[in-house]
Amino acid sequence: MIELVSPCLHRIHLSETDVPASYHTLDMTIELEALLNRLRILHNTNVRNGTTSYVTFDDGWRDVLLIPKGFFRQHSNLQPVVFLTDEQFTDRPRWMPLHTLYAWMEDQGHTLDDLPQLGIDRATIKDWREDEQHTFLLKRLPAFDERPDYLSLQDLEILTKRGWKVASHGPEHSDLRTIPPDRLRTMLEESLTYLHGFGAELWLAWPEGRWNDEVVTLAHEVGFTKQFGLREEPRRGTSSLVEMRTLW
Ligand SMILES: [Zn+2]
Repeated sequence: MIELVSPCLHRIHLSETDVPASYHTLDMTIELEALLNRLRILHNTNVRNGTTSYVTFDDGWRDVLLIPKGFFRQHSNLQPVVFLTDEQFTDRPRWMPLHTLYAWMEDQGHTLDDLPQLGIDRATIKDWREDEQHTFLLKRLPAFDERPDYLSLQDLEILTKRGWKVASHGPEHSDLRTIPPDRLRTMLEESLTYLHGFGAELWLAWPEGRWNDEVVTLAHEVGFTKQFGLREEPRRGTSSLVEMRTLW
């Protein structure tokens, strides 16, 4: 059996300083030419095997526009997908909390190693609901407010015309397993409303790659037709409804 590789990407840069240093430290950014080369190899493997891979981009970064316009048309055994949170389907999304943090750190010349001294524990923050993350960071990063570099609705329409797929990265970017099932059901239904409104795919990439069999069953019941996780994230269940992706 042929194992399909579905890469999961976050940021893309041309030169190292295009993105805050934290993304380099966390291995969440890739140089454009390096990415295109890996994609060409993946495309050729798919051609030989008669398969197609999803090439997935999480968190809605505008960086994907660096990829040459015709690239995926020329490499048609690759299907690009962007995964967005509900807020990113609106006109003026807020920065996601951790993105604010990395941008602020860059601004202040802080590195990830400085966080403990600043009283900020990244792993702990990731366990909170998104509103709690916002509240915590607002207190510590006063008046840090810049326009996020996320894809606009117009950008999404351009990508859709180029054959890209758009889907959900969850109602909010947090560990959705912590939310009571009834509440999560309502939230997932709202996400579906955004997807229907945009004409997007009814697919879900679990934020942080965290899921268990209960939340997967719930998402399936409310109408998500595909779900995606991350091989590198150990906090996950066993359901075969979830397609695993690999961080690049
Ligand atoms: Zn994400």
